[in-house]
Parts: sequence; structure tokens; C-alpha cells
Amino acid sequence: MGDEVQIFEDYLRKHSLHLTAPRETVLHAVFGTHEHFTADDLIAHLQRAGTPVSKATVYRTLSLLSECSLLIEHDFGQGKKYYEHASELQHHGHLYCSDCGRISEFYDPRLNALQDKIARQEGFEPVQFAVKIYGRCADCAAKRVRRDAGAIG
Ligand SMILES: [Zn+2]
Ligand SMILES: [Zn+2]
Repeated sequence: MGDEVQIFEDYLRKHSLHLTAPRETVLHAVFGTHEHFTADDLIAHLQRAGTPVSKATVYRTLSLLSECSLLIEHDFGQGKKYYEHASELQHHGHLYCSDCGRISEFYDPRLNALQDKIARQEGFEPVQFAVKIYGRCADCAAKRVRRDAGAIG
């Protein structure tokens, strides 16, 4: 994660900020995970790891990391932001379960090619795609079926 530290330090310096110890702790935790996470997830993770960092610092560091394009923010419309590494966002799409909040990813080059074609037909140069499919994951869909069956029986 040498590059990330360098990019972040450069960004902080440009804004007359410093890579303080708590910010560095957040940085390491962020780049030690490959999941989508929220600020609260990260706060809990730091507490469990025995390296607690104040809420304010976590929130502030996450927004700084987004500002310098190391992290991508996702909003699934439930009042909290999910983050993931920008470098991992190889044009993948997200499936969001509205029942349990699970996020899965999918990647299909055909979809990317189609989006690219549509954008170019409009004379538009695409930089980033974001596909979100909202619905119910397989587990939650199965639970609903069982619940509905129970209600009838
Ligand atoms: Zn679900
Ligand atoms: Zn993702």
C-alpha cells in the first residue's frame, strides 16, 4: 500500500494537513480490507483491533480519502455511505439487498461494452460506470417465500 500512503500524504500536504498517527491507523485499516464498509464498520473494526480512533477522525479521514480519489463512495439510499477502494472498482456493478443490506458485486464485460457503446453513441466519453441493482438477495428472497407460505398455511 505504499502508493496509497504516498498519494494521501501528497494530498494532505497540498492542503496543509499532516498524516497524524490516528489518520495513519485509519489508512492502514482501510487498505487492509477488501470489502465494502461504512464508517461505523471501520470504527467497530478499529475498536476490536485495540486501536480505537475517534469517530470524528474516522469520518474526516474517509472523506479526505474520497476527495483524493483513493476511495469511492457508494450511496444506496439508506442514509449511510459505503466505501471501497477506487483501484478495485474495475467497472463492476453492485447488487444491493434492501432487506438485509448485503452488497454483492458482479462483473460482466458485455455490460461494460454496452454502456461504452451507449455513451459513445451520445458523443459522451465515459470515465466511470455505476450500475446498482436493488432488490432481495437469494437468502432474503427464500425467507420471504417461507414467510408467505407460512402465512397461507
Ligand atoms: Zn438479503
Ligand atoms: Zn464494489
